[in-house]
Amino acid sequence: MHQDIAARIHSVQQAIDLASLKASTTKTVTLIAVSKLQSQTTIEEAYSSGLRHFGENYAQELAQKAAACPQDIVWHFIGPIQTNKLKLIAETASWVHSIDRIKVAKKLDAACKDLNKTISILIQVNIDDESSKSGIKPEEVINFATELNTHYSNLKLKGLMFMPNIQASDVDKLITYSRIQELHDSLVMIFPECYELSLGTSGDFQDAIVAGSSMVRIGETLLGARA
Ligand SMILES: *Cc1c(COP(=O)(O)O)cnc(C)c1O
Repeated sequence: MHQDIAARIHSVQQAIDLASLKASTTKTVTLIAVSKLQSQTTIEEAYSSGLRHFGENYAQELAQKAAACPQDIVWHFIGPIQTNKLKLIAETASWVHSIDRIKVAKKLDAACKDLNKTISILIQVNIDDESSKSGIKPEEVINFATELNTHYSNLKLKGLMFMPNIQASDVDKLITYSRIQELHDSLVMIFPECYELSLGTSGDFQDAIVAGSSMVRIGETLLGARA
């Protein structure tokens, strides 16, 4: 089992390095192991193979795992946010990728103030998935970023997050990637500290890196099938 995970991590890491070379970027790509519905044992195996960034979708599950797992793990909250769970998220996560409402930002900021901590956030953008309610529209990004940067001092806005539309054709995916790059570039022109781009999962992380992704969120390819 341990060998298994170590071998998978090794091959994903190689694929990331190769894609980074193709992207001819000096950006380092952060590998986030998406550990939702994975056991603590699996997380600890991945940890002993060197991984430190883990992603979770459910606040309660995140809190339980954060309490039980090694303390130097950097937790990323990547799921839809329920406002009554923000305190749990603020207590445990270092990053929140799924900010798409001011109300959520406001409550997260308040929870972080109470804890005397700052948290890194990304704006989740919905660029091509009409069936999903998560994410703001591309044309709203600049205003939303301006508002976040103006009012919420315990939140550090670092960039954008996208979910891939796995049903899209290859051509449509490439068009979407170039729209994402354009949008991200226009944000970075105004807010240089928004250089992070969280894009790419098991199915598309190499293409995503070539398209400028600096954070990839990989679940099953890295850790095996979810329970
Ligand atoms: C589950 C999930 C992932 C990982 O998906 P895999 O296909 O297992 O790589 C990435 N991002 C988000 C937001 C997820 O919910």
